[in-house]
Amino acid sequence: MSDALPTCLLDGALVPTSAARVSPLDRGFLFGDGIYEVVPCYGGRPFRLQAHFDRFQTGLDALDIPNPYSRARWSGLIQALIAANGGGDMGVYLEVTRGAGRGRDFLPEPDMKPTVFGFCWRLASVRPEQLEQGIVAVTLEDIRWRRCDIKSVALLGPVMLRMEAKRRGADETILIRDARLAEGSSSAVFVVKDGHITTPPASHDRLPSITRLVAGDALAALRLPLAVREIQREELYTAEEIWIASATREVAPVTRLDGRAVGMGKPGLIWRRVFEEYQALKQREAA
Ligand code: PLP
Repeated sequence: MSDALPTCLLDGALVPTSAARVSPLDRGFLFGDGIYEVVPCYGGRPFRLQAHFDRFQTGLDALDIPNPYSRARWSGLIQALIAANGGGDMGVYLEVTRGAGRGRDFLPEPDMKPTVFGFCWRLASVRPEQLEQGIVAVTLEDIRWRRCDIKSVALLGPVMLRMEAKRRGADETILIRDARLAEGSSSAVFVVKDGHITTPPASHDRLPSITRLVAGDALAALRLPLAVREIQREELYTAEEIWIASATREVAPVTRLDGRAVGMGKPGLIWRRVFEEYQALKQREAA
């Protein structure tokens, strides 16, 4: 990720990122008691914003945190944040925590005022070497909690998993739970085997990825069927292609897993078609 741009959003106001301050008693800081979203923006326009709003709301509802703004107000604030930072292609991070209390009690105080924070960063275009070589992944046991469908700011598991991936020379971790594919530490996963494209179903073990939906739309446009079913760990080692999907990395090919080549060890032919359709879909929706 590149650096935060100079203007951020704090409790409804645009302020310099370097000057923004949140109380140390904020429950986001003390307990990870909050929800976040990452929305990709192309040409200054948020992509699939309503789907991100839907997931944001589901997370806030799960934690019983009131959403401080209407969708119209959120949209206006996001547009203002993008404009204040010069527009273009960027990632926009949004966070709502339950707010700051009078002390530190596990049980939230009544009528707390949620804290709202948002910032953005420049989205680099996909690196040419990624298109040529793909990315390296390792499998690790999923050490996260049991409600991975909630996009909570409590991300210690993914932080530890990404650090371990780095130690092993990998860019992403593919998580295994009960001998099955859960998801990437910050991505959804697709597997191509015997020419069939599969992805695991929604469950408490997985974040409902918006990019997975976009990739599904790209596959539908290409008339390539997508099977949704559980995937066993061993299937990963005989896959022809593995892709990871996330808002900021789009759909990226994994070409090495646990030190072995995936398929021919090069980005696959089906991935390339999906990648191209994904770019076309972005252009169409931005127009
Ligand atoms: N799964 C996890 C655990 C993630 O953290 C993310 C994104 O950060 C995803 C999947 C992909 O979600 P999206 O496509 O909405 O970025």
